[in-house]
Amino acid sequence: MSEEVFKKVVSHCKEYGFVFTSSEIYDNGLGAVYDYGQNGVELKNNLRQYWWKFMVQMHDNIVGLDAAIFMHPKTWKASGHIDGFSDPMIDNKDSKKRYRADNLLEDKIAKYQKDGKTNKADELQNALDAALLANDLAQLKTLIEQHEIACPISGTRNWTDVRQFNLMFSTEMGAMAEDADKIYLRPETAQGIFVNFLNVQKSGRMKIPFGIAQTGKAFRNEIIARQFIMRMREFEQMEMQFFVRPGTQKQWFEYWKEARLKWHLALGFDKANYRYHDHVKLAHYADAAVDIEFDFPFGFKEVEGIHSRTDFDLKSHQDLSGKKMQYFDADLDENGKPYGNYIPYVIETSIGLDRLFLYTLCASYNEEEVGEGDKKDTRVVLALPPILAPYKVAIFPLTKKDGLPEVARKIIDDLKFDYNCFYEEKDAIGKRYRRQDALGTPFCITVDHESIENQTVTIRHRDSMLQERIPIAEIKSILDKAISWKDILSK
Ligand code: ATP
Repeated sequence: MSEEVFKKVVSHCKEYGFVFTSSEIYDNGLGAVYDYGQNGVELKNNLRQYWWKFMVQMHDNIVGLDAAIFMHPKTWKASGHIDGFSDPMIDNKDSKKRYRADNLLEDKIAKYQKDGKTNKADELQNALDAALLANDLAQLKTLIEQHEIACPISGTRNWTDVRQFNLMFSTEMGAMAEDADKIYLRPETAQGIFVNFLNVQKSGRMKIPFGIAQTGKAFRNEIIARQFIMRMREFEQMEMQFFVRPGTQKQWFEYWKEARLKWHLALGFDKANYRYHDHVKLAHYADAAVDIEFDFPFGFKEVEGIHSRTDFDLKSHQDLSGKKMQYFDADLDENGKPYGNYIPYVIETSIGLDRLFLYTLCASYNEEEVGEGDKKDTRVVLALPPILAPYKVAIFPLTKKDGLPEVARKIIDDLKFDYNCFYEEKDAIGKRYRRQDALGTPFCITVDHESIENQTVTIRHRDSMLQERIPIAEIKSILDKAISWKDILSK
């Protein structure tokens, strides 16, 4: 899929009410913040439900949580975000544009590779890795200068020094400015799970291994936000922390690595779109990490991370709060003694809902040639898995009169408790079908004069465009058969 098609997906999102730029009426909107429209919110809800059902409903040892976005500021001290959650940035003095120093160098490496200068590319990659590992900001600037990297806007090499830029948004809590505490908008949902670990474990009588799952907004002041909803400043994460006995983390890491890819594949898109990317350089808290990447039109990019986080987070919270974060394990070890008290190790699975949404649209978007001769045409169709489609069925009276709308409304009244239905009576039927194709609606039902005579309707299938005559009484069972969570969750 090319950049060209990606542009079409982005405009499709706006034209069909999937995604809008936030507060666009003002100066073309707020940078890297987006709103989900009437169809986007349905697709997003369905994707979130798919994740939740798989994680919580399908695992009797995983429970949910909905922690607040605001947390005590010490949380972020313990997690390492206050001291370490930053990116190296550099400004061009002429264009006044800000860049991530490592991204400028990565772009240069890609350029060397494209031009066949593999030695130079490798050499720069090694130097970049070493500078990042040593957190050597001066060296990053030296590399930018040595490799004669210019600002893409001004074309000059008039750079500031490289500085660390913390990605957390902050605000103040409390009525009086002088007493107010600085607090942060959470940059990840995981910490809400860690601080509630014992609340959930005790109140739910959870036995290790067990997991806590949560979905919710996270905020990062990304220096460069690009590629539409790929990198946003306000986004949604779906995270699950799985608490295990120390020493078993490798085995659980492998388990979740495989289980999570399987979950992606059950969506039914081409397997070749996915790959693992093992981390060589690990974050300070991790002893193993892998990303699941998807082949976006702009290349393979991370969608989900699976991290073996050791006992880093629980231990830091225990140290800073002075509150025990231990679990008592009554199971017996190989010597017949209880494992006793310990701080559990954690495997985390963390997926960005917006990136999942974006790849679902990219993978579903098709332009197809239809018809023959004079009637040749292209149709845009979203080949969404039916269970994820914003509307499951659209009901059209052929005309606005002769009692047809009433029959159509009655069909909707029967279906609407189970399915999101779309009603439309304007325009030619062909045009109405096309609009539903563009939303990914798997079925359209047309009510015509024959429907009044013999209680039958035409059902039209999105992908094959086949139409068949069926009794009204059978609509519900046809939908039930074609649209079910079980299909996707049992794959
Ligand atoms: P990246 O390297 O792309 O910045 P990350 O490694 O910082 O991502 P994590 O902290 O592991 O990401 O967050 C888990 C998931 O949250 C990511 O896999 C991604 O899907 C999502 N995510 C992270 N940052 C953003 C963002 N700015 N916009 C949208 N989704 C994001």
